[in-house]
Amino acid sequence: MYDAIVVGAGPAGSHVAAELARRGHSVALLEQHGAIGKKGCCTGIVGRECLEAFPIARQAVVREARGARFFSPSGASFTLQKEAAQAYILDRRAFDEAMAAAAAKQGAECLLGTMVRAVSPAGDAARVEAEAGGQARAFEARAVVLACGFGSPLPVALGFGRAGDRAAGAQAEVETAVDQVEVYVGRRHAPGFFAWLVPTREGKALAGLLARRDTRGRLEAFLRHLRDQGKIAADGAPPRFGGIPLKPLGRTSGSRVMVVGDAAGQVKPITGGGIYYGLLCADIAVDVLGRALAGNDFSARALSEYDRQWHRLLARELRIGRWARRAFERLSDRRIERLFRLVQDGPAAESLLADPDFSFDWHGRLVLRALRRLGPRAALAMLGR
Ligand SMILES: Cc1cc2nc3c(=O)[nH]c(=O)nc-3n(C[C@H](O)[C@H](O)[C@H](O)COP(=O)(O)OP(=O)(O)OC[C@H]3O[C@@H](n4cnc5c(N)ncnc54)[C@H](O)[C@@H]3O)c2cc1C
Repeated sequence: MYDAIVVGAGPAGSHVAAELARRGHSVALLEQHGAIGKKGCCTGIVGRECLEAFPIARQAVVREARGARFFSPSGASFTLQKEAAQAYILDRRAFDEAMAAAAAKQGAECLLGTMVRAVSPAGDAARVEAEAGGQARAFEARAVVLACGFGSPLPVALGFGRAGDRAAGAQAEVETAVDQVEVYVGRRHAPGFFAWLVPTREGKALAGLLARRDTRGRLEAFLRHLRDQGKIAADGAPPRFGGIPLKPLGRTSGSRVMVVGDAAGQVKPITGGGIYYGLLCADIAVDVLGRALAGNDFSARALSEYDRQWHRLLARELRIGRWARRAFERLSDRRIERLFRLVQDGPAAESLLADPDFSFDWHGRLVLRALRRLGPRAALAMLGR
């Protein structure tokens, strides 16, 4: 019997496995795919804070970004840029591989090609039924961590429910000479969300968008627009699709089980970025599970400390982020144009950039401060008056 089984070798799962193994626990990390880093739909942007907290990510950085150029529906634009790098673009496959290799190095047993079908937390152990190479396999552990990403049926089957709100993403690798991150807002490309062109390695970029539906059609239209603008050459790579939870599960722990990362909905509601918050919550899960393993107490009550701690860290941020997201989704193109003019004409952009709360990772304070700084005109524009 393992001390812990972690389901899913994405960043959150591999980090939990690495840290538990480092503390001397026996850990199995089960991944459905036969190779690490098969998640093809992620832009891989993280902020400076993430890189400082999880330096292993440095191995996978392909580019730094000091800012981004924002485009309105009519093509008006402004640039937000700082002297120092604000964000880092990771090669997602290389990052996942580095994280899983770190878990293996610490002694976690990484079982690839092992698809977990069911988890049953019974009285004395949690049983895990899996399928590997067409054969059924059964495992036992004192506790199970579900880090199985967005849309897995496992949290639902265990009574944790589904993310209360979600978006769909689509992305393709393209050839480009553009060397700055570009963000497109407005109904035309990504109603209520945004589209992006993110340069990665020399001459390459990821072009993608988030939307509530029809991501395939929207991505095709966006790529056409970029081609018409001469920003990208003919793209050949097949598009990739993925879901993003915008609201966390109501509960992320129970007797012998915890849910971490995208599976739990620990994602920034404004941008859909989940790597950093997932890793922060993975650290909390490791601390709480470490105590449970030491005290042999895997009761729902003991493990609910995980819920309490990550809520203390993120709940306010997620609440403000969801509010801002809902407000943004209500904006018509006309209002977005008005906001662009306000930013272009006034000192808002500079004062936002100079704000000590300007952060790629924490948006709550910035949202509140931006509303105050943009003043009543912007607030009225957002409210549609
Ligand atoms: C279009 C798009 C762009 C994005 N861009 C960014 C970005 O720029 N920055 C950012 O921070 N975030 C971004 N994200 C979100 C980011 O990809 C996720 O937040 C992140 O991958 C979550 O990590 P995770 O470890 O929780 O889950 P995942 O990375 O999804 O890993 C889950 C793992 O579990 C495995 N698994 C699932 N079910 C089972 C099972 N039953 N048995 C065994 N294994 C299983 C999967 O194969 C996978 O390897 C983006 C998402 C999308 C869709």
